[in-house]
Amino acid sequence: MNIAIFGSGYVGLVTGACLADVGHKVSCIDIDSHKIEHLNQGNIPIYEPGLEALINRNRQEGLLSFTTDAKQAVQRAELIFIAVGTPSDQSGQADLRSVFAVADSIADYMNNYKVVISKSTVPVGTTEQIKQRIVARQQHHNHLIDFDVCSNPEFLKEGSAIEDFTRAARIIIGTDSQRVTQLMSECYAPYNRNRNKLMFLDIRASELTKYAANAMLATKISFMNEIANLAEHLQADIEQVRQGIGSDPRIGFDFIYPGCGYGGSCFPKDVSALLNSATLTGVNLELLQSVQRVNERQKHLLFDKLNQVFNGQWHNKTIAIWGLAFKPNTDDMREAPSRILMEAIWQAGGRVQAFDPIAMPECKKLYSDESKLTLCEQRDACVDNADALVICTEWKAFRTVDFEWLKQQLKTPVVVDGRNLFEPKRVQQAGLLYYAVGRGNSV
Ligand code: NAD
Repeated sequence: MNIAIFGSGYVGLVTGACLADVGHKVSCIDIDSHKIEHLNQGNIPIYEPGLEALINRNRQEGLLSFTTDAKQAVQRAELIFIAVGTPSDQSGQADLRSVFAVADSIADYMNNYKVVISKSTVPVGTTEQIKQRIVARQQHHNHLIDFDVCSNPEFLKEGSAIEDFTRAARIIIGTDSQRVTQLMSECYAPYNRNRNKLMFLDIRASELTKYAANAMLATKISFMNEIANLAEHLQADIEQVRQGIGSDPRIGFDFIYPGCGYGGSCFPKDVSALLNSATLTGVNLELLQSVQRVNERQKHLLFDKLNQVFNGQWHNKTIAIWGLAFKPNTDDMREAPSRILMEAIWQAGGRVQAFDPIAMPECKKLYSDESKLTLCEQRDACVDNADALVICTEWKAFRTVDFEWLKQQLKTPVVVDGRNLFEPKRVQQAGLLYYAVGRGNSV
């Protein structure tokens, strides 16, 4: 099938590469001409395991192309995916300006029947608004062409996006049209061979499913962080509690890791947008408001612990940070807990030396003041002469540490672990003061 995808970010590129890989002819469009130029030279602007090879193979086979030419891409395509960003605006509402800008281009260039698919995460009613907007624009230009809209939210996770796309637990399609059902089934058929993963819902239910899924996952994380804080005060080890509850199949082990709060480009903004939609509808989502509050508090936990250790004395203090990305296997630093920590350290008058296996170029774009931040080439060099080590991201590379060596490197023997990577007794044996999350050792 001929497919156009607006937005060449995490979702657009992964969707484009995976659909091209099963033989569709895919054109990815972006307004960022710099990005398109890089993609056409084989340089992938984001880090996602396996993506570079997948893109370049399909590009060379002529199945995947990148362009800023929306007109040509729209006119060639039968299916048009909208996969542009929907960030939070200042009030927490989803900013739909990019989505509607794409809808306008599609309206202007449409030459025959198309299915316009909202893959971006959008509030309930947006897909219908896209339809109305396209119709109104066509009427204005007296240029009426038949089309359908459809909601197809994306559930991939950064860091395992290709695996998630190709082996999705389910593919949600919101439509009320037989024709769309048939075309979308055809589009996803190669990924739907062994088990029927396609779920056809109403458009509004499909839109809400995406928000409900992220809100549920965010709730699990905040719940666990709340219990971890209680455990810390009761001198109970949350890691033992996690094992204890996770082994109950009704609860399971996924998303119950205590830590320094959820970040990334999705959970914070989707929780905000859902709260906002609810408020606008006159519904009070009490549980979700608490989920958001708990997370905001949790993101300050690491700084609060350091501040207590140092008694609020930050003069000449240098903190080593391992992990800048909001989670392992990505370079994405949007809403990352590391950012709250670094900004609080700077505000207090301290310095940071940091290491991340992948996210350092991204970090450099965000923070360029070298008097406040040194990015270190290696994990081990990063702790040299620091006053404390803080772990913000659970990269595999941080899981094995020679604690005796670490004690020698640090000026004061303080380790604050935002991801509970180590056994407290083992770290303490080396003479280090170890502060994790909910492990009965509050500062
Ligand atoms: P992103 O910021 O990585 O990429 C968005 C891209 O859209 C950018 O390259 C931008 O230049 C481009 N763009 C903006 N306006 C455009 C326009 N008018 N025409 C063409 N391109 C335009 O965003 P993302 O992380 O890929 O997220 C996209 C959507 O998917 C969001 O709604 C997000 O909530 C949702 N989503 C994201 C993830 C994720 O893990 N990143 C997972 C599931 C769903």
